[in-house]
Amino acid sequence: MSKGKINVAVENIFPLIKKFLYSDHEIFLRELISNATDATLKLKHLTQIGEAKIEYGNPLIEVKVDKKGKKLHIIDQGVGMTSDEVNKYINEVAFSGAEEFLEQYKDSVKDSGIIGHFGLGFYSAFMVARKVEIITKSYKDESAAHWTCDGSPEFTLKKHDKKERGTEIILHIDKDSKEFLEETQIRSLLTKYNKFMPIPIKLGTKEITKTEGDGDDAKEVKEVVDDIINNPSPAWIQKPTDLKDEDYNHFYRELYPTQFEEPLFQIHLNVDYPFNLTGILYFPKISNDLNLQKDRIQLYQNQVFVTDNVEGIVPEFLTMLRGVIDSPDIPLNVSRSYLQADGNVKKISNYITRKVADKLKSLFKKDREAFHKKWNDIKVVIEYGMLSEDKFFEKAKDFALFPTTTGDYLTFEELKEQTKDAQTDKDGKLVQLYASNEDDQHAYIEAAKAKGYTVILLDSPIVSHLLQKLETNEENISFTRVDADQIDKIIVKEDSTPSKLSEESQEQLKTIVERIVPKATYTVQLEPMDSKAMPFLITQPEFMRRMKEMQLTGGGGMLGGNMPEMYNLIVNTNHPLVTQILETKTKKKQERLIKQSVDLARLSQNLLKGEELTSFINRSFDMIK
Ligand code: ADP
Ligand code: MG
Repeated sequence: MSKGKINVAVENIFPLIKKFLYSDHEIFLRELISNATDATLKLKHLTQIGEAKIEYGNPLIEVKVDKKGKKLHIIDQGVGMTSDEVNKYINEVAFSGAEEFLEQYKDSVKDSGIIGHFGLGFYSAFMVARKVEIITKSYKDESAAHWTCDGSPEFTLKKHDKKERGTEIILHIDKDSKEFLEETQIRSLLTKYNKFMPIPIKLGTKEITKTEGDGDDAKEVKEVVDDIINNPSPAWIQKPTDLKDEDYNHFYRELYPTQFEEPLFQIHLNVDYPFNLTGILYFPKISNDLNLQKDRIQLYQNQVFVTDNVEGIVPEFLTMLRGVIDSPDIPLNVSRSYLQADGNVKKISNYITRKVADKLKSLFKKDREAFHKKWNDIKVVIEYGMLSEDKFFEKAKDFALFPTTTGDYLTFEELKEQTKDAQTDKDGKLVQLYASNEDDQHAYIEAAKAKGYTVILLDSPIVSHLLQKLETNEENISFTRVDADQIDKIIVKEDSTPSKLSEESQEQLKTIVERIVPKATYTVQLEPMDSKAMPFLITQPEFMRRMKEMQLTGGGGMLGGNMPEMYNLIVNTNHPLVTQILETKTKKKQERLIKQSVDLARLSQNLLKGEELTSFINRSFDMIK
């Protein structure tokens, strides 16, 4: 037996480990399972290259909870360590055995999946244990070693009679870490961090029911089997050509067991130069309310779960997607701002953006109808991406769709082509009309359609920002909501038709109307419109409304918040009702007619509410009785 002190340079590691390095004590288990996995993968590699002349078999990692004995065991069937190796890799903490192994076998070991320097490593065990034992037997022909350390820097190292190859780590759990003696807790940690690790992990046993024999002889038998926590071969490490849609959907449910809805489609990521990255991104149905999602993209490193906060790694607009990303090239345990400045991370983020754009484009090209059917469920991501990433904007212009009120889904180019004859105004500007709500803006949409104009439907919350961007990117195009003005004013083709009313009558009319409506809210505007157009119409100027919307959804439009609600009240001087009002002799009756007309205009814009609405209704009943 030998005694010694762990390498002096790291003497102070224990108090640090306990208090400071990780507030997440639970990660000790991830570290120990990673080491057990490494040890097993090393053995696999050594048998493959003929250096270890033994049968590799079907090794697994076993986790045992001994609540009574207050111990947790992690047992593997990997390479094990000789006494010398324990001295080197455990006692002289400065060495990383994984690093040395990778260096020694660097030509053949490339895709072995050995994790090595993951986090804090073996010593994280002391975050939850007052004493740790290692009983280990190397695959080499040497007797087993037994290392014990109680958290003071002193250790003991003795021989042990363990016969089978591999390593058993025994943690004597501290009294303030009792939760790690609960099997349910250990199960949930293994599920969180190790669900897709490459070596099977066993936690206890379970009973399953099997059918034996067939036909009349068939009977159900119960059998006790190992309870394996993980799926050692998750979809993302497989070849895309080996997977069908149902395999991807199956994996989606494995990732998010509480999601019942199937994803719309997925993108399988796979690069090894200039960085290493694999993964699968799923497009779920995304509703308009940008709810914070709980099922997010998960980040892995060599199949070990790291975090589900991928901010900085995945461009922000894609954080609405789901799935996994696995890359050993993403620096961990660094601050988010460092992450954003890291060149590799920037490349990864650009790569993901490009892949997503390419996939969307190919879906659009392959089956346009299927693509437009999904449009409403994916448009928020695409529109958000167009707004926030210029590279994505450029690509998305080819497949972003503009649905029309007549049920077409046009690309931007097609929209311009379809509208260029009817909707170019006299200054050469191409005016696109849009509606944000087909029901609320029905009257305005109908008026536009009657003129032969195309109205597109844009209802996502960030639309005002996107239109702003499209307008700055394209010369001579503007977007106006159908109810922003009366239709002939939006697309000015010629100088307006003359008014039937004399200048004097017009002045008189304006004065009467202005007396009745609140001046601060409504600007009265007399317009000689078509006699079939509405007599009274309320509009809200595009600019003002858009600024307000942009302010509500954040960014842009600094002015918006301070702007009062302001509308235009347009009076059609060519409408017979207007002439009739003007000719009404009794002042009281005249006022009543105007009030009623204005209220009808407000009603059609959903601006009549509460007491005003009630009195409008009562008044209307009185009029028809
Ligand atoms: P790293 O994994 O980065 O090398 P660790 O502190 O986690 O650092 O582990 C140190 C070394 O101890 C490992 O590289 C390995 O050589 C050895 N080791 C730890 N756990 C085991 C194990 N279960 N089987 C064999 N060797 C192990
Ligand atoms: Mg390790």
